[in-house]
Amino acid sequence: MTIDDFNFKGHKAIVRVDFNVPLDENGNITDDTRIRGALPTLKKILSDGGSLILMSHMGKPKGKVNPKLSLSQIKETVGKYLGADVQFANDCMAADDLAANLQPGQVLLLENLRFYPEEEGKPMGIEKTDPAYDAAKKEMKARQKDFAQKLASYADVYVNDAFGTAHRRHASTAVIADFFDTDHKMLGYLMEKEVKAVDNILKDIRRPFTAIMGGSKVSTKIGIIMNLMDKVDNLILCGGMTYTFARAMGGKVGNSICEEDKLDLALEIMAKAKEKGVNLVLGSDCVAADAFSNDANTQVCSVMDIPEGWEGLDAGPETRKLFAETIEPSKTILWNGPAGVFEFDNFTAGSRAIADAIVKATKNGAFSLVGGGDSVACVNKFGLADEVSYVSTGGGALLEAIEGKVLPGVAAIKGE
Ligand code: AMP
Repeated sequence: MTIDDFNFKGHKAIVRVDFNVPLDENGNITDDTRIRGALPTLKKILSDGGSLILMSHMGKPKGKVNPKLSLSQIKETVGKYLGADVQFANDCMAADDLAANLQPGQVLLLENLRFYPEEEGKPMGIEKTDPAYDAAKKEMKARQKDFAQKLASYADVYVNDAFGTAHRRHASTAVIADFFDTDHKMLGYLMEKEVKAVDNILKDIRRPFTAIMGGSKVSTKIGIIMNLMDKVDNLILCGGMTYTFARAMGGKVGNSICEEDKLDLALEIMAKAKEKGVNLVLGSDCVAADAFSNDANTQVCSVMDIPEGWEGLDAGPETRKLFAETIEPSKTILWNGPAGVFEFDNFTAGSRAIADAIVKATKNGAFSLVGGGDSVACVNKFGLADEVSYVSTGGGALLEAIEGKVLPGVAAIKGE
Protein backbone atom coordinates (compact mmCIF):
# COMPACT_ATOMS: atom_id res chain seq x y z
CA MET A 1 0.00 0.00 0.00
CA THR A 2 1.21 3.52 -0.70
CA ILE A 3 0.17 6.62 1.18
CA ASP A 4 -1.24 8.21 -1.98
CA ASP A 5 -3.51 5.21 -2.58
CA PHE A 6 -4.97 5.22 0.91
CA ASN A 7 -7.90 7.38 1.99
CA PHE A 8 -7.51 8.04 5.71
CA LYS A 9 -11.10 9.27 6.18
CA GLY A 10 -12.35 7.87 9.47
CA HIS A 11 -9.07 6.07 10.17
CA LYS A 12 -6.72 6.43 13.11
CA ALA A 13 -3.15 6.43 11.88
CA ILE A 14 -0.19 5.81 14.16
CA VAL A 15 2.77 7.49 12.51
CA ARG A 16 6.43 6.91 13.42
CA VAL A 17 8.05 10.30 12.87
CA ASP A 18 11.56 11.50 13.61
CA PHE A 19 10.99 14.37 16.03
CA ASN A 20 14.44 13.98 17.53
CA VAL A 21 15.12 17.71 17.15
CA PRO A 22 17.93 19.57 18.91
CA LEU A 23 16.88 21.64 21.95
CA ASP A 24 18.70 24.40 23.81
CA GLU A 25 19.11 24.38 27.61
CA ASN A 26 15.66 25.96 28.02
CA GLY A 27 13.98 23.29 25.92
CA ASN A 28 13.56 25.50 22.84
CA ILE A 29 13.93 23.86 19.44
CA THR A 30 17.08 25.11 17.69
CA ASP A 31 16.41 23.40 14.34
CA ASP A 32 12.96 22.14 13.37
CA THR A 33 13.93 20.64 9.99
CA ARG A 34 12.86 17.17 11.11
CA ILE A 35 9.40 18.32 12.15
CA ARG A 36 8.94 20.13 8.86
CA GLY A 37 10.11 17.02 7.01
CA ALA A 38 7.16 15.01 8.35
CA LEU A 39 4.48 17.59 7.52
CA PRO A 40 3.45 16.41 4.02
CA THR A 41 2.54 12.99 5.41
CA LEU A 42 0.78 14.36 8.48
CA LYS A 43 -1.19 16.94 6.51
CA LYS A 44 -2.32 14.35 3.96
CA ILE A 45 -3.75 12.17 6.76
CA LEU A 46 -5.54 15.06 8.43
CA SER A 47 -6.91 16.54 5.22
CA ASP A 48 -8.30 13.12 4.20
CA GLY A 49 -10.28 13.22 7.46
CA GLY A 50 -8.13 10.89 9.53
CA SER A 51 -6.74 11.33 13.03
CA LEU A 52 -3.09 11.20 14.00
CA ILE A 53 -1.19 9.43 16.73
CA LEU A 54 2.40 10.59 16.55
CA MET A 55 5.28 8.65 18.07
CA SER A 56 8.99 9.36 18.14
CA HIS A 57 12.13 9.09 20.20
CA MET A 58 14.21 12.01 21.40
CA GLY A 59 17.85 11.64 22.39
CA LYS A 60 19.16 8.68 24.34
CA PRO A 61 17.28 8.33 27.64
CA LYS A 62 18.42 4.68 27.81
CA GLY A 63 15.07 3.26 28.87
CA LYS A 64 14.43 5.73 31.69
CA VAL A 65 12.14 8.73 32.07
CA ASN A 66 14.15 11.93 31.60
CA PRO A 67 12.19 15.21 31.62
CA LYS A 68 14.94 16.94 29.61
CA LEU A 69 14.07 14.60 26.73
CA SER A 70 10.30 14.89 26.99
CA LEU A 71 8.47 15.36 23.71
CA SER A 72 6.02 17.65 25.55
CA GLN A 73 8.60 20.36 24.78
CA ILE A 74 7.82 20.21 21.06
CA LYS A 75 4.04 19.86 21.29
CA GLU A 76 3.35 23.55 20.59
CA THR A 77 5.57 23.65 17.52
CA VAL A 78 3.96 20.54 16.06
CA GLY A 79 0.53 22.06 16.70
CA LYS A 80 1.53 25.33 15.08
CA TYR A 81 2.68 23.58 11.90
CA LEU A 82 -0.39 21.36 11.72
CA GLY A 83 -2.83 24.11 12.62
CA ALA A 84 -4.34 21.83 15.27
CA ASP A 85 -4.34 21.39 19.03
CA VAL A 86 -2.04 18.57 19.99
CA GLN A 87 -3.03 16.33 22.87
CA PHE A 88 -0.21 14.75 24.80
CA ALA A 89 0.06 11.29 26.36
CA ASN A 90 2.55 11.44 29.26
CA ASP A 91 3.09 7.72 29.09
CA CYS A 92 3.18 6.04 25.69
CA MET A 93 1.95 2.78 27.26
CA ALA A 94 -1.10 4.39 28.84
CA ALA A 95 -2.71 6.26 25.98
CA ASP A 96 -5.72 3.95 25.49
CA ASP A 97 -8.40 6.44 26.46
CA LEU A 98 -6.86 9.39 24.62
CA ALA A 99 -6.45 7.27 21.49
CA ALA A 100 -9.95 5.80 21.73
CA ASN A 101 -11.54 9.25 22.01
CA LEU A 102 -9.56 10.79 19.16
CA GLN A 103 -11.83 12.33 16.51
CA PRO A 104 -11.09 12.96 12.80
CA GLY A 105 -8.72 15.91 12.45
CA GLN A 106 -7.35 15.50 15.98
CA VAL A 107 -3.74 14.86 16.91
CA LEU A 108 -2.24 12.93 19.80
CA LEU A 109 1.49 12.97 20.53
CA LEU A 110 2.95 10.13 22.61
CA GLU A 111 5.76 10.69 25.09
CA ASN A 112 9.33 9.70 24.10
CA LEU A 113 9.23 6.00 23.20
CA ARG A 114 12.77 5.46 24.48
CA PHE A 115 11.67 6.11 28.05
CA TYR A 116 10.94 2.38 27.80
CA PRO A 117 13.85 0.00 27.08
CA GLU A 118 11.42 -2.11 25.03
CA GLU A 119 11.49 0.46 22.21
CA GLU A 120 15.10 -0.36 21.34
CA GLY A 121 14.71 -3.95 22.52
CA LYS A 122 18.19 -4.17 24.02
CA PRO A 123 18.70 -5.39 27.56
CA MET A 124 19.98 -2.43 29.59
CA GLY A 125 22.58 -2.57 32.35
CA ILE A 126 24.01 -5.94 31.38
CA GLU A 127 27.22 -6.47 29.42
CA LYS A 128 27.28 -8.62 26.29
CA THR A 129 30.01 -10.70 27.93
CA ASP A 130 27.76 -11.56 30.92
CA PRO A 131 26.65 -15.24 30.77
CA ALA A 132 23.10 -14.08 31.50
CA TYR A 133 23.06 -11.71 28.50
CA ASP A 134 21.46 -14.10 25.98
CA ALA A 135 18.57 -14.92 28.29
CA ALA A 136 18.08 -11.22 29.07
CA LYS A 137 18.05 -10.43 25.37
CA LYS A 138 15.46 -13.10 24.66
CA GLU A 139 13.25 -11.80 27.43
CA MET A 140 13.63 -8.22 26.18
CA LYS A 141 12.69 -9.22 22.64
CA ALA A 142 9.46 -10.77 23.98
CA ARG A 143 8.73 -7.58 25.92
CA GLN A 144 9.48 -5.53 22.81
CA LYS A 145 6.82 -7.45 20.91
CA ASP A 146 4.22 -6.71 23.61
CA PHE A 147 5.25 -3.05 23.64
CA ALA A 148 4.82 -2.84 19.85
CA GLN A 149 1.47 -4.60 20.04
CA LYS A 150 0.25 -2.08 22.59
CA LEU A 151 1.25 0.83 20.33
CA ALA A 152 -0.45 -0.89 17.40
CA SER A 153 -3.67 -1.24 19.41
CA TYR A 154 -4.15 2.55 19.40
CA ALA A 155 -4.72 2.73 15.65
CA ASP A 156 -5.88 0.86 12.56
CA VAL A 157 -3.20 2.09 10.14
CA TYR A 158 0.58 2.29 10.58
CA VAL A 159 2.74 4.77 8.68
CA ASN A 160 6.51 4.94 9.00
CA ASP A 161 8.00 8.29 8.01
CA ALA A 162 11.15 8.20 10.15
CA PHE A 163 13.95 7.49 7.69
CA GLY A 164 16.58 8.52 10.26
CA THR A 165 15.81 5.40 12.32
CA ALA A 166 14.92 3.03 9.46
CA HIS A 167 18.21 1.15 9.94
CA ARG A 168 17.13 0.09 13.44
CA ARG A 169 14.84 -2.82 14.24
CA HIS A 170 13.00 -1.04 17.02
CA ALA A 171 9.45 -1.56 18.27
CA SER A 172 8.06 1.53 16.55
CA THR A 173 10.16 1.32 13.38
CA ALA A 174 9.75 -2.34 12.46
CA VAL A 175 8.23 -4.73 15.03
CA ILE A 176 4.91 -2.86 15.11
CA ALA A 177 4.41 -3.48 11.38
CA ASP A 178 3.67 -7.16 12.10
CA PHE A 179 0.41 -6.12 13.74
CA PHE A 180 -1.02 -4.57 10.55
CA ASP A 181 -1.93 -6.29 7.28
CA THR A 182 -0.30 -5.13 4.03
CA ASP A 183 -3.26 -2.87 3.19
CA HIS A 184 -2.90 -0.99 6.48
CA LYS A 185 0.82 -0.22 6.65
CA MET A 186 2.81 2.07 4.42
CA LEU A 187 5.79 4.38 4.11
CA GLY A 188 5.24 8.11 4.52
CA TYR A 189 6.24 10.63 1.83
CA LEU A 190 9.63 11.37 3.37
CA MET A 191 10.51 7.67 3.54
CA GLU A 192 9.28 7.17 -0.04
CA LYS A 193 11.50 10.01 -1.26
CA GLU A 194 14.55 8.68 0.57
CA VAL A 195 14.03 5.14 -0.71
CA LYS A 196 13.58 6.45 -4.26
CA ALA A 197 16.77 8.54 -3.98
CA VAL A 198 18.75 5.49 -2.88
CA ASP A 199 17.25 3.49 -5.77
CA ASN A 200 18.42 6.19 -8.18
CA ILE A 201 21.93 5.70 -6.87
CA LEU A 202 22.00 1.91 -6.58
CA LYS A 203 19.54 0.68 -9.21
CA ASP A 204 18.47 3.21 -11.84
CA ILE A 205 21.97 4.48 -12.53
CA ARG A 206 22.63 6.89 -15.42
CA ARG A 207 26.27 7.12 -16.44
CA PRO A 208 28.83 8.35 -15.80
CA PHE A 209 28.24 7.74 -12.08
CA THR A 210 30.60 9.61 -9.76
CA ALA A 211 30.74 9.04 -6.02
CA ILE A 212 32.60 11.49 -3.83
CA MET A 213 33.54 10.16 -0.42
CA GLY A 214 35.20 12.48 2.04
CA GLY A 215 35.26 13.05 5.77
CA SER A 216 37.90 12.22 8.25
CA LYS A 217 38.63 8.49 8.09
CA VAL A 218 38.70 5.69 5.55
CA SER A 219 37.80 3.13 8.24
CA THR A 220 34.27 4.51 8.72
CA LYS A 221 33.57 4.58 4.98
CA ILE A 222 35.00 1.26 3.91
CA GLY A 223 31.66 -0.59 3.66
CA ILE A 224 30.28 2.02 1.29
CA ILE A 225 33.45 2.35 -0.73
CA MET A 226 33.52 -1.38 -1.36
CA ASN A 227 29.82 -1.56 -2.29
CA LEU A 228 30.16 1.39 -4.66
CA MET A 229 33.17 -0.11 -6.37
CA ASP A 230 30.86 -2.41 -8.35
CA LYS A 231 28.70 0.47 -9.49
CA VAL A 232 30.58 3.70 -10.07
CA ASP A 233 32.63 4.96 -13.00
CA ASN A 234 34.51 7.53 -10.93
CA LEU A 235 35.34 7.37 -7.25
CA ILE A 236 36.71 10.54 -5.69
CA LEU A 237 38.23 9.97 -2.24
CA CYS A 238 38.98 13.20 -0.43
CA GLY A 239 39.12 14.85 3.00
CA GLY A 240 41.19 13.33 5.78
CA MET A 241 41.43 9.92 4.13
CA THR A 242 43.63 11.45 1.40
CA TYR A 243 46.58 11.23 3.77
CA THR A 244 46.15 7.56 4.59
CA PHE A 245 46.39 6.91 0.84
CA ALA A 246 49.36 9.24 0.42
CA ARG A 247 51.15 7.51 3.31
CA ALA A 248 50.33 4.08 1.86
CA MET A 249 52.01 5.19 -1.38
CA GLY A 250 55.13 6.16 0.55
CA GLY A 251 54.38 9.87 0.97
CA LYS A 252 55.33 12.13 3.87
CA VAL A 253 52.14 13.50 5.43
CA GLY A 254 53.48 15.52 8.38
CA ASN A 255 50.82 15.93 11.09
CA SER A 256 47.91 15.17 8.76
CA ILE A 257 45.20 12.85 9.98
CA CYS A 258 46.36 9.38 8.96
CA GLU A 259 45.25 5.87 9.94
CA GLU A 260 48.56 4.03 10.14
CA ASP A 261 46.77 0.70 10.61
CA LYS A 262 44.75 1.19 7.40
CA LEU A 263 47.60 1.55 4.92
CA ASP A 264 47.06 -1.99 3.59
CA LEU A 265 43.38 -1.27 3.24
CA ALA A 266 44.16 1.84 1.19
CA LEU A 267 46.35 -0.23 -1.15
CA GLU A 268 43.62 -2.86 -1.37
CA ILE A 269 41.08 -0.19 -2.40
CA MET A 270 43.47 1.06 -5.09
CA ALA A 271 44.00 -2.47 -6.43
CA LYS A 272 40.27 -3.18 -6.40
CA ALA A 273 39.54 0.02 -8.34
CA LYS A 274 42.06 -1.03 -10.96
CA GLU A 275 40.60 -4.52 -11.20
CA LYS A 276 37.05 -3.17 -11.56
CA GLY A 277 38.02 -0.45 -14.05
CA VAL A 278 36.93 2.32 -11.68
CA ASN A 279 38.59 5.69 -12.15
CA LEU A 280 39.89 6.34 -8.62
CA VAL A 281 40.55 10.04 -8.14
CA LEU A 282 42.77 11.09 -5.24
CA GLY A 283 43.99 14.57 -4.40
CA SER A 284 47.45 15.53 -5.64
CA ASP A 285 47.95 18.79 -3.74
CA CYS A 286 46.57 20.17 -0.50
CA VAL A 287 46.31 23.29 1.59
CA ALA A 288 48.51 22.50 4.58
CA ALA A 289 48.35 24.38 7.88
CA ASP A 290 50.82 24.73 10.75
CA ALA A 291 48.02 24.18 13.31
CA PHE A 292 44.51 22.75 13.43
CA SER A 293 42.95 26.20 13.44
CA ASN A 294 41.14 28.55 11.11
CA ASP A 295 43.86 31.17 11.64
CA ALA A 296 46.82 28.88 11.03
CA ASN A 297 49.50 29.77 8.48
CA THR A 298 48.97 27.88 5.23
CA GLN A 299 50.89 26.68 2.19
CA VAL A 300 49.96 24.61 -0.84
CA CYS A 301 52.01 21.44 -1.18
CA SER A 302 51.95 17.96 -2.66
CA VAL A 303 50.00 15.44 -0.57
CA MET A 304 53.09 13.25 -0.87
CA ASP A 305 55.42 15.81 0.63
CA ILE A 306 53.93 17.69 3.56
CA PRO A 307 56.57 19.34 5.78
CA GLU A 308 57.05 18.20 9.38
CA GLY A 309 54.72 20.09 11.73
CA TRP A 310 52.19 20.83 8.96
CA GLU A 311 48.90 19.07 8.21
CA GLY A 312 46.68 18.90 5.16
CA LEU A 313 43.34 20.51 5.98
CA ASP A 314 41.87 21.10 2.52
CA ALA A 315 42.19 20.15 -1.14
CA GLY A 316 44.69 22.20 -3.16
CA PRO A 317 43.93 24.14 -6.39
CA GLU A 318 45.10 21.38 -8.79
CA THR A 319 42.99 18.84 -6.92
CA ARG A 320 39.93 21.08 -6.90
CA LYS A 321 40.20 21.44 -10.67
CA LEU A 322 40.53 17.68 -11.14
CA PHE A 323 37.52 17.00 -8.90
CA ALA A 324 35.39 19.56 -10.76
CA GLU A 325 36.38 18.14 -14.17
CA THR A 326 35.42 14.65 -12.99
CA ILE A 327 32.10 15.69 -11.48
CA GLU A 328 30.74 18.09 -14.08
CA PRO A 329 30.07 15.59 -16.94
CA SER A 330 28.49 13.05 -14.54
CA LYS A 331 24.85 11.98 -14.78
CA THR A 332 24.56 10.33 -11.35
CA ILE A 333 26.35 11.80 -8.34
CA LEU A 334 26.60 10.79 -4.70
CA TRP A 335 28.40 13.00 -2.21
CA ASN A 336 29.16 11.96 1.34
CA GLY A 337 31.75 13.72 3.46
CA PRO A 338 33.60 17.03 3.07
CA ALA A 339 36.91 17.50 1.23
CA GLY A 340 38.45 19.50 4.06
CA VAL A 341 37.82 20.90 7.50
CA PHE A 342 34.90 22.93 6.16
CA GLU A 343 33.90 24.06 9.67
CA PHE A 344 36.86 26.47 9.40
CA ASP A 345 35.98 29.15 6.83
CA ASN A 346 39.53 29.19 5.49
CA PHE A 347 39.41 25.48 4.59
CA THR A 348 36.15 25.26 2.66
CA ALA A 349 37.53 25.63 -0.88
CA GLY A 350 37.71 21.89 -1.66
CA SER A 351 34.18 21.20 -0.47
CA ARG A 352 32.97 24.35 -2.20
CA ALA A 353 34.52 23.25 -5.52
CA ILE A 354 32.75 19.90 -5.20
CA ALA A 355 29.42 21.52 -4.31
CA ASP A 356 29.68 23.97 -7.24
CA ALA A 357 30.51 21.18 -9.70
CA ILE A 358 27.57 19.11 -8.43
CA VAL A 359 25.23 22.08 -8.87
CA LYS A 360 26.51 22.57 -12.43
CA ALA A 361 26.05 18.87 -13.29
CA THR A 362 22.56 18.92 -11.76
CA LYS A 363 21.63 21.87 -13.98
CA ASN A 364 22.79 19.73 -16.90
CA GLY A 365 20.39 16.95 -15.94
CA ALA A 366 22.35 14.84 -13.47
CA PHE A 367 20.70 13.21 -10.46
CA SER A 368 22.66 14.30 -7.39
CA LEU A 369 22.23 12.93 -3.89
CA VAL A 370 23.98 14.57 -0.97
CA GLY A 371 23.75 12.80 2.34
CA GLY A 372 25.18 11.39 5.48
CA GLY A 373 25.94 14.03 8.07
CA ASP A 374 28.59 16.57 7.31
CA SER A 375 28.11 16.97 3.56
CA VAL A 376 24.56 18.09 4.33
CA ALA A 377 25.95 20.71 6.74
CA CYS A 378 28.32 21.67 3.93
CA VAL A 379 25.66 22.32 1.25
CA ASN A 380 23.61 24.18 3.86
CA LYS A 381 26.61 26.33 4.74
CA PHE A 382 27.04 27.19 1.06
CA GLY A 383 23.30 27.81 0.62
CA LEU A 384 23.16 25.24 -2.19
CA ALA A 385 20.77 22.66 -0.71
CA ASP A 386 18.01 23.61 -3.17
CA GLU A 387 20.32 23.25 -6.17
CA VAL A 388 21.08 19.55 -5.87
CA SER A 389 18.51 16.85 -6.66
CA TYR A 390 18.14 15.46 -3.16
CA VAL A 391 19.53 16.13 0.29
CA SER A 392 19.01 13.11 2.50
CA THR A 393 17.81 13.54 6.08
CA GLY A 394 18.99 10.15 7.22
CA GLY A 395 22.65 10.00 8.27
CA GLY A 396 23.26 6.42 9.41
CA ALA A 397 20.24 5.00 7.59
CA LEU A 398 21.36 6.47 4.28
CA LEU A 399 24.88 5.14 4.66
CA GLU A 400 23.65 1.65 5.51
CA ALA A 401 21.28 1.71 2.53
CA ILE A 402 24.14 2.69 0.23
CA GLU A 403 26.27 -0.06 1.72
CA GLY A 404 23.61 -2.33 0.25
CA LYS A 405 22.06 -3.34 3.57
CA VAL A 406 18.33 -3.92 3.84
CA LEU A 407 16.77 -1.34 6.19
CA PRO A 408 14.51 -3.08 8.76
CA GLY A 409 12.10 -0.12 8.73
CA VAL A 410 11.57 -0.44 4.99
CA ALA A 411 11.57 -4.25 4.92
CA ALA A 412 8.91 -4.40 7.65
CA ILE A 413 6.49 -2.61 5.34
CA LYS A 414 7.55 -3.62 1.87
CA GLY A 415 8.51 -7.14 2.84
CA GLU A 416 11.82 -7.02 0.97
P1 AMP B 1 32.98 12.14 8.71
O1 AMP B 1 32.12 12.27 9.94
O2 AMP B 1 33.88 10.95 8.70
O3 AMP B 1 32.18 12.32 7.43
O4 AMP B 1 34.00 13.34 8.78
C1 AMP B 1 33.62 14.68 8.74
C2 AMP B 1 34.72 15.48 9.35
O5 AMP B 1 35.91 15.28 8.62
C3 AMP B 1 34.45 16.96 9.33
O6 AMP B 1 34.26 17.41 10.64
C4 AMP B 1 35.73 17.56 8.73
O7 AMP B 1 36.22 18.66 9.45
C5 AMP B 1 36.71 16.40 8.85
N1 AMP B 1 37.80 16.51 7.86
C6 AMP B 1 37.72 16.65 6.55
N2 AMP B 1 38.94 16.78 6.00
C7 AMP B 1 39.83 16.72 7.01
C8 AMP B 1 41.24 16.81 7.10
N3 AMP B 1 41.99 16.99 6.01
N4 AMP B 1 41.81 16.74 8.31
C9 AMP B 1 41.06 16.56 9.41
N5 AMP B 1 39.71 16.46 9.41
C10 AMP B 1 39.10 16.54 8.21
